[in-house]
Amino acid sequence: MSNTAQGLRVCPTRVDGSPVLFAHKVDLSRCQERQRQRYHKCFACAWNNSYVSQHGEPALTAADDAAPAPEKEETTAKVG
Ligand code: SF4
Repeated sequence: MSNTAQGLRVCPTRVDGSPVLFAHKVDLSRCQERQRQRYHKCFACAWNNSYVSQHGEPALTAADDAAPAPEKEETTAKVG
């Protein structure tokens, strides 16, 4: 699993291509934020910046679009 037709990344995408029990889609900014925060799944992910710099981006597969869509972020502030 890797990059979807919508430009989202399947998180995580294992470097060996093995399936993951729980995966979802993230956009580029969320992926970068998680890497900066040392998200525990990034070290073995094909979207890890270090891995991409050496091997390129992972290829799109048919299974990529099956992963759940990203969570909606709450954009409105709650008032009192
Ligand atoms: S690098 Fe990290 S945040 Fe980005 S897709 Fe992989 S596991 Fe998810």
